[in-house]
Amino acid sequence: MSNPSATVLVVEDEESFVEALTVGLKREGFRVQVAKDGAQALELFGAVDPDLVLLDVMLPKVSGIDVCREIRKQSKVPIIMVTAKGSEIDTVVGLEVGADDYVTKPYRLRELVARMRAVLRRTPSEVQVIASRIDAVEVGDVSLDPERHEVVIRGEEVSLPLKEFELLSLLLENAGRVLTRDTLIDRVWGHDYVGDTKTLDVHIKRLRTKVEDDPARPTRIVTIRGLGYKYEVRSPQRPATADS
Ligand code: CA
Repeated sequence: MSNPSATVLVVEDEESFVEALTVGLKREGFRVQVAKDGAQALELFGAVDPDLVLLDVMLPKVSGIDVCREIRKQSKVPIIMVTAKGSEIDTVVGLEVGADDYVTKPYRLRELVARMRAVLRRTPSEVQVIASRIDAVEVGDVSLDPERHEVVIRGEEVSLPLKEFELLSLLLENAGRVLTRDTLIDRVWGHDYVGDTKTLDVHIKRLRTKVEDDPARPTRIVTIRGLGYKYEVRSPQRPATADS
């Protein structure tokens, strides 16, 4: 277990749901604190100092989106949003206000715990900031140094065109986190970009031929359907739901 005694702040208003979840998470070794609405979540957040926040979007009083935004003003704690099936807008907004990942109701406890462990693992030891500023980044056997415009993949220096370089840089800096298509296009091509949005996919495809072991079956730069892309912190050799 990566972090057996991690404290999770569960923000959820459905009683029956909370009970089962609390029992399940405790069984997995987590300490659990529960907030029943957004206001209580913000109160408890300061008091509990959780290692992770599991945040339902549909909440009374203060919405999950606003709770996420508030927490992000003061903390980089991992946040997993819980969204209802089919509410892609919530998911996109959630990620844009700083959530690290999301699960869609109904989900299986196994899946949730795997996601929780993944965001808890995404610590400075795996996404290493080599220099004092966030200017050089290394994830697994891929490293990138913006100052020198250098990319090293599996020990070999690779030359990348500017946009591919910027795209990879953004993905690596946010390894383990979903980046929406809009965010990627905004940050790499600028918010006034009016070109074909296929441009992003073309660049992703080119990057994959350089970064992936098998570009046809990407395990590093993965597509998150309907949302965008994510750079996996670990290229999984087995399903993400397997016990660690
Ligand atoms: Ca709810």
